[in-house]
Amino acid sequence: KKYVYLFHEGDASMKNLLGGKGANLAEMTNLGIPIPKGFTVTTEACNKYYDDDKVIAPEIINEIHHTMSQLEAATGKTFGGEVNPLLVSVRSGARASMPGMMDTILNLGLNDKTVEVLAKETNNERFAYDSYRRFIMMFGDVVMEIHKKDFDAILEEMKEAKGVHLDTELTAEDLKELVLQFKAFYRSQKGTDFPQDAREQLIEAVTAVFRSWDNPRANVYRRLNDIPSSWGTAVNVQEMVFGNKGDTSGSGVAFSRNPATGEKKIFAEYLMNAQGEDVVAGIRTPSPIEELEKQMPETYKQFMDIVNTLENHYRDMQDMEFTIEEGKLYFLQTRNGKRTAQAALKIAVDMVEEGLTTKEKAILMLDPKQLDTLLHPAFNQEEMKNHPVIATGLPASPGAATGKIAFTAQEAKERHEAGEMVVLVRQETSPEDIEGMIAAEGILTVRGGMTSHAAVVARGMGACCVAGAGAIKVDEKKKTMTVNGKVYGTEDYISLDGSTGNVYEGKIETVEPEISGHFGTFMGWADEIRSLKVRTNADTPHDAAQAVKFGAEGIGLTRTEHMFFAEDRIFIMRQMIVARTEEARRAALEKLLPMQKSDFKGIYKAMEGRAVTIRFLDPPLHEFLPTHPEEIEELAAALNVTTDELNGVITDLHEFNPMMGHRGCRLAVSYPEIAEMQTRAVIEAALEVNAEMGWNIVPEIMIPLVGEVKELKYVKNIVVKTADAIIAEQGAELKYLVGTMIEIPRACMTADEIATEADFFSFGTNDLTQMSFGFSRDDAGTFLKHYYEKKIYDFDPFAKLDQDGVGKFVKTAVTLGRGEKPTLKLGVCGEHGGDPSSVEFFHNIGLDYVSCSPFRVPVARLAAAQAEV
Ligand code: ADP
Ligand code: MG
Ligand code: MG
Repeated sequence: KKYVYLFHEGDASMKNLLGGKGANLAEMTNLGIPIPKGFTVTTEACNKYYDDDKVIAPEIINEIHHTMSQLEAATGKTFGGEVNPLLVSVRSGARASMPGMMDTILNLGLNDKTVEVLAKETNNERFAYDSYRRFIMMFGDVVMEIHKKDFDAILEEMKEAKGVHLDTELTAEDLKELVLQFKAFYRSQKGTDFPQDAREQLIEAVTAVFRSWDNPRANVYRRLNDIPSSWGTAVNVQEMVFGNKGDTSGSGVAFSRNPATGEKKIFAEYLMNAQGEDVVAGIRTPSPIEELEKQMPETYKQFMDIVNTLENHYRDMQDMEFTIEEGKLYFLQTRNGKRTAQAALKIAVDMVEEGLTTKEKAILMLDPKQLDTLLHPAFNQEEMKNHPVIATGLPASPGAATGKIAFTAQEAKERHEAGEMVVLVRQETSPEDIEGMIAAEGILTVRGGMTSHAAVVARGMGACCVAGAGAIKVDEKKKTMTVNGKVYGTEDYISLDGSTGNVYEGKIETVEPEISGHFGTFMGWADEIRSLKVRTNADTPHDAAQAVKFGAEGIGLTRTEHMFFAEDRIFIMRQMIVARTEEARRAALEKLLPMQKSDFKGIYKAMEGRAVTIRFLDPPLHEFLPTHPEEIEELAAALNVTTDELNGVITDLHEFNPMMGHRGCRLAVSYPEIAEMQTRAVIEAALEVNAEMGWNIVPEIMIPLVGEVKELKYVKNIVVKTADAIIAEQGAELKYLVGTMIEIPRACMTADEIATEADFFSFGTNDLTQMSFGFSRDDAGTFLKHYYEKKIYDFDPFAKLDQDGVGKFVKTAVTLGRGEKPTLKLGVCGEHGGDPSSVEFFHNIGLDYVSCSPFRVPVARLAAAQAEV
């Protein structure tokens, strides 16, 4: 098996094997773009490393060495050699890009001898030692796990001793001395000398990249972005080019369009005399690319051409890295750029209009989850005027965020968990801060540009971020930030506007978003393309109306019990529950009927004639009962029973395992009068609204928690008898459906029988997941985290459908149900109805619709369209 590929042996289609970076380096090589030569060690080698208990197999090591000899031949240089030494970078690169999550080592191949050769051959001693000190630090950090900040401290001390501010002001002599100090420090930490053998350095570095696939921040990032740990990372070994060779050299990053707004204009920043991550790390403030036009017009022109070539080739916005070595331009990376949701919409719509791509491809350019940011509130413009702008930074990632100030990621995480809303304020962020960035409402940094870590990560997460607000002074130890002489602490609120870069004092109210402009156009395309329908789960007219605005085509689930928790109703509900005779129960139900009916009318009207599925009472009854002694006494008095009697009733209702207890259709089996009342409410409300509005609503009555066809048949008979009587009585016409929720494994396995009594199935995948795994969704959180740590599960099965197990139940039920009744209508109303990968699955197995909460309706619409192409 081949584990190592030279760049020219690969291409862009080989992402799974070569990783995104490797596949694109190969593709660019083939396109004739100036790329330093190199090779890629495959993701399969990484997986084998983990299978082999974290050692690289000898055959792979041999193949790496062999390919290195080919690279030597191709470059005319020698690796670790004493003439014309070949230096390389060792770069991680997984299938999906994970910016900053894993590690890269530059200038590998340097040692005490080659550094002198390099100095002599380039006639640039400063450059050689600058490269060496960087290499020692990166190798120490990445391979040997010596803290980078300890090296940084030595560097800072040196700068102070020499009385300079910038790294670039250190002389060759200074850097030589720094190298000695770094090596001494390395020895003191590791007990061995810094490795001098280039091939040993190489294998150590490749191993470290494989190892970094499993570091904690990479794991957090993967879970957040649905990347399975089984993908592994590839490693790219590439000839170095040098941006740190002096004032005609530099390095930078570029986007073919603006990643924050989507504007069709190349957006790039660079730093002269700099290497690698210097631009992103915010060491010095970078220059906009327009300045390069004045400095090096030829190079500038070539740069612009390549950027355009790449965008046209990939037909998507590109995020690129480049380096200029003594005036000569090299590209080092390209990928489809991360962008804000707003930018993604604009770019997708523009590219279709420019004829660069099709609607089908364009709808793939947005991760459905990204829509979230567009659906969430922005600042109330009126109120914003009353808050002073205390600082302005770069509009790095749009959105509106309000919270109290947190000064470290750890603090942000803890305070968020304690229920506070916080804004994370940092000098600059680093990959270690990821959990705090997730927890925070928004992120504010003092240093860094549009391509800084904070900006890139925030855009990826859809979090609001203002970067590089230089007027702010942060004191992390004292937990204060100072702007224009005014001091703010952890109890002060600030508000960030990620679209303008403004930072406001105080807490600003937010307002609801709208689907219009590019968003409307884009969603229109998604709707044209998809066949899977999208409904919503809504229990109130307000939620229903919200969902209609977001494009819901009906209601897939109305939970009737939610209507009975309101203060004026719970009391009657309790009367109904504690009733010991049918008569008493009917009396209470009589009072509930008009309330329930008016709820349904409200919902029907909000849905403007669209389909509405109403689920009958589902939870265990004791959920409605009072728990505090005073409440119990009060209720007893009002019900005219003794406290003892009431306590007796409550004790009787107690269940050891309520989720598997007296609930769902079992309630209707015990107390058919409840189902009667609910049927009456559904049918009468529909008749009235149809008459009033001239609509033709066809209510869908859904019986929950069925596991056996006879129990469905029993409840259905009550529904049909009641409904038909009302319709006949009124001499009206009304069509209605009776179906069931499929959420018990037994129902899936007997779906053919159940289908004989059902007009539709709606999969309740929350309960189905719970019952299939045999763990409760309310308790699983405590132990599932151990399952993630131990890589037994990659994802929370309550958030993302377990396709192998629970999915098989669903599929079985679909096959059996449709086999019996080809017209059977099929939907999903669990949480999974709004999860993109689950939506794709539901599309593939032939469901008619998914139903999800109102804010996820646009997400599901897009996911359904993407599943189609
Ligand atoms: P990341 O995935 O975190 O961006 P990269 O592997 O792309 O890490 O590398 C980090 C930095 O080093 C980037 O700025 C990249 O351009 C630079 N770099 C990588 N390889 C080389 C090379 N062969 N020559 C010059 N610079 C390089
Ligand atoms: Mg990179
Ligand atoms: Mg259920």
